[in-house]
Amino acid sequence: MTEPARLSNQYPIPERMKAWVLGDPGEIRPTEKPVPHPGAAEVLVRIDAVAICATDLEIIAHGLPAMVEGGLPFNKNFTIGHEYMGTVVKLGPAVDEYAVGDRVTVEVHAGCGRCARCRQGMYTSCLNYGDVKKGHRANGFTTDGGFAEYAVNNINTLVHVPDDMSDEEATLVVTAGTAMYGLDVLGGLIAGEGVVVTGPGPIGLLGVAVAKALGADPVILTGTRERRLELGKKLGADHAVNVRAENAVAAVKRLTGGKGVQFVLECSGAPSALDEAAQMVDRGGRICLAAFPHERVPVDLAHIVRNNIYVFGIRGEGRSATHRAMALMKQKRFDAKLVHTHTFPLDQLPTALKFARERIDDAIKVVVKNHP
Ligand SMILES: [Zn+2]
Ligand SMILES: [Zn+2]
Repeated sequence: MTEPARLSNQYPIPERMKAWVLGDPGEIRPTEKPVPHPGAAEVLVRIDAVAICATDLEIIAHGLPAMVEGGLPFNKNFTIGHEYMGTVVKLGPAVDEYAVGDRVTVEVHAGCGRCARCRQGMYTSCLNYGDVKKGHRANGFTTDGGFAEYAVNNINTLVHVPDDMSDEEATLVVTAGTAMYGLDVLGGLIAGEGVVVTGPGPIGLLGVAVAKALGADPVILTGTRERRLELGKKLGADHAVNVRAENAVAAVKRLTGGKGVQFVLECSGAPSALDEAAQMVDRGGRICLAAFPHERVPVDLAHIVRNNIYVFGIRGEGRSATHRAMALMKQKRFDAKLVHTHTFPLDQLPTALKFARERIDDAIKVVVKNHP
């Protein structure tokens, strides 16, 4: 016999909800669907705010990396959106870690919990990725996400939001968590070491912020857009290099007295990025790739081998990195709000997506809210 899910009268839950779903490629449309029910280790989250990610735009246009029932996500009544926060309104039968009324933000991946990678904390690389029957969820990628009024989340994907943090800021935890995971994978001891972050997108900008908060010295940001580079300085970059004006490798050498840095967090996806990163690190240096180029890239592998350079790839926000990112944000070690630029109501999602896609009005992180 299963116990009934517990809820509170404070948050009456309707039978059906508004949700946006993918139609054909390039198409997202409003519909209604049943409000989902939380399982044993899950809660129902009333979604209050969702940030738009470049990956959402990629999914709407091309489908991947979202995969539903083993195929492309189009015309499957599928809801995307993975950078959301909200309020716990209903608990699954076995949940005592959260209470109804808690404000929470989410990370994307609930691994299956039973494969070798999940057991290592690498649940973003779950070996049963997409297998819903085995308990895997990646909301907005393989299971319904946040462009809706409610979503079900495994408790392992939740992070408490402090009272004094806005909804908009709380949506940025998974972005900061991805940067944190990248720095974790690089080996963790960041204080006093030089870190180059290549690419001032949201992950790169928050990568700068997290690296600085962890004591990196110096933090160097490279990119092409002057406004973004200036923002990087506000978030903690000691130096910002516009690679249109100066060769990135030469600049890093100049700024480090010829030595280079120990760590590079690559967030640009530029085809030349890995080859350049290998020239920026010192012997034994480490490079984490957090963005993917859309083509095969030429690299001087012999240089990497001769210099004992380590190269890592990461997917998403593993090893509970979002919790560590939230710890820094809660202590106000950096101001993530600086990357949030626009807010729209959820029913204006197409406009919000257009702002994000076309970077209208210098948009960086565009947030949509259910209860603006
Ligand atoms: Zn994202
Ligand atoms: Zn797994």
